[in-house]
Amino acid sequence: MEKIDLKNLSLPELTTWVIALGLKPFRAEQIFSWIQRPDFTDFASMTNIAKHVRSLLAEKAVFSRMVPAKVECSEDGAVKFALRLEDGKMIESVLIPEDGRNTLCVSSQVGCAMDCKFCLTGTMGLARNLTAAEIVGQVDVVRNWLFDQAAEGPRINNLVFMGMGEPLLNFTNLIRAVEILMEQRGYDFSGRRITVSTCGIVPKIKELGEKVPVNLAISLHAPDDETRNKLMPINRTYPLAELLRACREYPLPPRRRIMIEYVMIKDVNDSVLQAHLLVRRLHGIRCKINILPYNENSRVNFRRPDDQTIEAFRQVLRRAGYTTLLRSSRGTDISAACGQLAA
Ligand code: SAH
Repeated sequence: MEKIDLKNLSLPELTTWVIALGLKPFRAEQIFSWIQRPDFTDFASMTNIAKHVRSLLAEKAVFSRMVPAKVECSEDGAVKFALRLEDGKMIESVLIPEDGRNTLCVSSQVGCAMDCKFCLTGTMGLARNLTAAEIVGQVDVVRNWLFDQAAEGPRINNLVFMGMGEPLLNFTNLIRAVEILMEQRGYDFSGRRITVSTCGIVPKIKELGEKVPVNLAISLHAPDDETRNKLMPINRTYPLAELLRACREYPLPPRRRIMIEYVMIKDVNDSVLQAHLLVRRLHGIRCKINILPYNENSRVNFRRPDDQTIEAFRQVLRRAGYTTLLRSSRGTDISAACGQLAA
């Protein structure tokens, strides 16, 4: 019989498994705490668990550990981790230090099926979903790497599901991973420090908010269906009106706002007229807007608008009262920036 990977189980799932083995439920909490530790390497080290239980665990289970195949540091401080999965496939995670805080951008799939016309990951197609263990494993790798830099040093403050893949199309494993990461006996991340970004998988948006109290980011990128259809094929399935309705229905915790992502592409979605239209369409949605000037690459023929155009667009949003962030691209020199992940 194949051994079960304990890193793939949420605490409730682990509890069920432990009970089925004939053990007391509290063992699950002990085991969970152990396997979450950065220094955990062996069942034998579980000193508060009886020897015969440890050997039973070793007989029935394994715990996967991911190791980085390559770590690259950008001049601007971003660090890209390339990880080789058990089947040889590669994924990437990016650590972004910003104002004394560390944000980790994780992948949810190997590749992506969404085929957004401006995104490099999209050109790969989808290979497969990541398991919960592979999602959490990315956080483990980076936590351990930070720990190796300085034991008392900085930690991961925020997690964003903005790496490779469409998280809402790997829903079960996404939820499981978030539950593991929020578990008090492990990372103990609060939902407000986790952001899930989606290109607009409408039927899953509300369900996400009902299952886990995470922040929602929407890759909107256009204020009208005509433009959005050209950029993002998913818009033909779930057009803007439906997507914006899902945003309005998202069970947003108090004092939080949805993040609207807007990749600005020269002569495609960067006009002042489109900014005004965006303001109209967002009416009634508690949100802030994140403008990402397009990261150019040699394989996709889109350009970044000039600074004046970006500023003019931003002014319209600002005057309408929206908090508007202009996200400077990080890690472009090591191909770690948005839409550049393609292992
Ligand atoms: N599939 C999810 C998660 C990926 S997030 C989603 O679409 O939200 C990655 C973000 O980077 C998305 O907002 C995506 O649209 C954006 N992006 C892709 N290519 C980019 C590029 N070349 N420049 C800037 N942003 C890009």
